[in-house]
Amino acid sequence: MTAKIIDGKVVAERLRAQVAEEVARLRADYKLQPGLAVVLVGEDPASQVYVRSKGEHSLAVGMHSVTHRLPAETQQAELLRLVAELNADPLIHGILVQFPLPKHLDEKAVIAAISPDKDVDGLHTVNAGRLASGLPALVPCTPLGCMILLRETLGDLTGKRAVVVGRSQLVGKPVAQLLLQADCTVTIAHSRTQDLPAVCREADILVAAVGRPRMIRGDWIKPGATVIDVGINRVPFDDPEKAAQGKTKLVGDVHYKEALEVAGAITPVPAGVGPMTVACLLQNTVTAAKRLAGIEV
Ligand code: NDP
Repeated sequence: MTAKIIDGKVVAERLRAQVAEEVARLRADYKLQPGLAVVLVGEDPASQVYVRSKGEHSLAVGMHSVTHRLPAETQQAELLRLVAELNADPLIHGILVQFPLPKHLDEKAVIAAISPDKDVDGLHTVNAGRLASGLPALVPCTPLGCMILLRETLGDLTGKRAVVVGRSQLVGKPVAQLLLQADCTVTIAHSRTQDLPAVCREADILVAAVGRPRMIRGDWIKPGATVIDVGINRVPFDDPEKAAQGKTKLVGDVHYKEALEVAGAITPVPAGVGPMTVACLLQNTVTAAKRLAGIEV
């Protein structure tokens, strides 16, 4: 058996087209142009790529888009001042501060300073609490993307056994909350879980958000399960010649080749969950803009 490959690029493209339509409608009917501000501190190369992509995609769907690039030595007070300005800016509906921040800055304090109404990363305690309470919330983008891919693949998720490996605020916990809301029976596994392979083998839906290359092996997967691989890990090429040249590639948390033989469906890395994250960020910005303007979501 070879698993169906879940094409995140195609689904993300469709979602971006829907967002573009909604932006056009809001501009025409309400004179409302959703606006996203992205803040980058320092020169982390991966962050620069992400921030550029977020800016380009938000412009492409017709949004107002601003990118603030601050030097690595920016002080906490300065960063908090910028966040306060963006909180008060009526043209901005979504604020995203790209993490990781340089070590001398306090990420938790930055998250707390962002207005929960503009917190399109869904990291503010108010949004995490609202999600856990089943209230309307801004939900982290990657978990939203995972859920869209799961619904595309499986339709109704009611009664499925879901195992989420990872319990971060950004991915593991919110994806588990969303699976619970979708009436799955959810297990959250983490670094202290005993007999992780056996736990994973119970899953109809297996979400891997660990940050360890190819950790989840083929024989950890229940035959026919749907596997969502959130991991993005940079590793040397398998080909020794390329590896010797220092060339690297991206792999997930799941051993893709092995999983292909067992799973019913699987997201590749790259081109699985990754493209969904940016598309969901655009969708979150539209949601935030509508809520701030009092337009029914
Ligand atoms: P974190 O490092 O914040 O969390 C990792 C989680 O994995 C922790 O809960 C940790 O457990 C658990 N873990 C670590 N080692 C093991 C192990 N050996 N067995 C079981 N569980 C383990 O990572 P994130 O949640 O932020 O990200 C996870 C991955 O997803 C990364 O590869 C990241 O790059 C990727 N990512 C991809 C995105 C996308 O757009 N596709 C977006 C965001 C992240 P414990 O809590 O016990 O320490």
